[in-house]
Amino acid sequence: MKITKTRLAPTPSGYLHIGNVLSFLITASLAKKHAAKILLRIDDLDQKRVRMEYIQDIFDTLDFLEIPYDEGPKSSKEFIQDYSQLNRLPIYKEYINELKEKKLVFTCNCSRKTLLKKHPKRFYTGTCLQRDLPWSKNQTALRLITNLTQTVNINHYTENQQVHQLPNAMDFFVIQKKDTYPSYQLASLVDDIYFDVDFIVRGTDLWDSTLAQVYLSNQLLRQQTFDQTVFYHHQLYKEEGKKLSKSNGSYSIRQMIKAGVKKEGIYRTIGHYLNLPQETTNLEEFSSQFLLLMNQSSKSGIVNSSPPFKAD
Ligand SMILES: [Zn+2]
Repeated sequence: MKITKTRLAPTPSGYLHIGNVLSFLITASLAKKHAAKILLRIDDLDQKRVRMEYIQDIFDTLDFLEIPYDEGPKSSKEFIQDYSQLNRLPIYKEYINELKEKKLVFTCNCSRKTLLKKHPKRFYTGTCLQRDLPWSKNQTALRLITNLTQTVNINHYTENQQVHQLPNAMDFFVIQKKDTYPSYQLASLVDDIYFDVDFIVRGTDLWDSTLAQVYLSNQLLRQQTFDQTVFYHHQLYKEEGKKLSKSNGSYSIRQMIKAGVKKEGIYRTIGHYLNLPQETTNLEEFSSQFLLLMNQSSKSGIVNSSPPFKAD
């Protein structure tokens, strides 16, 4: 298994919460084990939700918890100047053009309301596939012509390679949004190729995205070696049985710090949550305890990355 670079990939659409930090700590620990480099990648294409204070919060949180990384912006200013995804729009465009040339995309003007009318979970049923709508800014998105019988091979960190299928939720997934920016699936894939990332650590909530991104890479000549990428999906941090999210009022790290919680307290909380053998108060302690737990048992939920996952 070749592992040389992984990434932290937060989205600045809210203040970071403890679930984000859980993901950072697991990523940093596994990177350490393999002497892999860590890239900080901040996904800012969702411009309507991005705010400068959320970008700054990412730097503040990494700094407060003393989580180091090897590559990527060191400040908000450097991020905007050199690392914003807006700087890579021409690169995303090249990939989208390749899909267009291969006639693998179609235009779609469905609204969220229309999608809901056709399917209770808004799965796309191919409404615009044969319509051949003219492309028009802010009116049409580009969707991928997917084939659910095509298999997707995933290199799981804790298992051998496994064969999967694209889930119905990802049928005809969006490549380019109506605002003309690339979709998360396309931008994330292109960025991981661009930065030579070969190890992706993320929560089980992104399992469908993993399948979509590997599926998409199989359609592209430019994908190079993305099919060698190794994936580790960790369980999500849950409080009282509910998934943490920026929108449901879960405590942000920022709020915890304001309330007087120290760095050690945050490490302790996450360590307890994972049932680490000993109390941990910093990244070094966390990593050694986490890696120890991983070696000891693959039965513990947190180190079991093999799908299918229980619904979150
Ligand atoms: Zn449509």
